[in-house]
Amino acid sequence: MVEGVTMSVLASKDQDHRPAAADHIPWPQKSPTSCPISAVKARLRTAGLRPTRQRMALGWLLFAKGDRHVSAEMLYEEALRAREPLSLATVYNTLRQFSEAGLLRQVSVSGPKTFFDTNVSEHHHFYNEDDETVTDIPGSMIQVAGLPDAPEGMVISSVEVIVRLRSADGEAVETKRVVGHHA
Ligand SMILES: [Zn+2]
Repeated sequence: MVEGVTMSVLASKDQDHRPAAADHIPWPQKSPTSCPISAVKARLRTAGLRPTRQRMALGWLLFAKGDRHVSAEMLYEEALRAREPLSLATVYNTLRQFSEAGLLRQVSVSGPKTFFDTNVSEHHHFYNEDDETVTDIPGSMIQVAGLPDAPEGMVISSVEVIVRLRSADGEAVETKRVVGHHA
């Protein structure tokens, strides 16, 4: 398995107490004083979704704990444990609405298996085939070279790399998916 990436920080004699530079604030920017429930409500409203009870319940499970990659089944199980009486169909529908509103990004790893990513910024993924988990690879760590020209009338919408992992007695296989749509 791959160890977590350690950020190296250049030490500087910091005699004056200036606030951290803006680029040190992780994305998405979160106000430390905001209540998580009102933050979820605000996120839904900003995306043009009415904060219904079901959306709030699932939005809370998705967005109140930092960045996550969850399948519909995982979220359904979490909702059951949180005593939210939602059907699996409702979970699927809500995940689709959140994705269409730009709150989630879909990550398809193998066959019909889809994960929903609360981090919608550009980045890539490890997929662990042994335990079927998805983890982030920061976008800056992979550079994709030699992309083909998009077909006539099309532009490349995004490039997404899924690096598949299994335990070390096998070898990791890398697959690339290029997703394009009309400009
Ligand atoms: Zn991700």
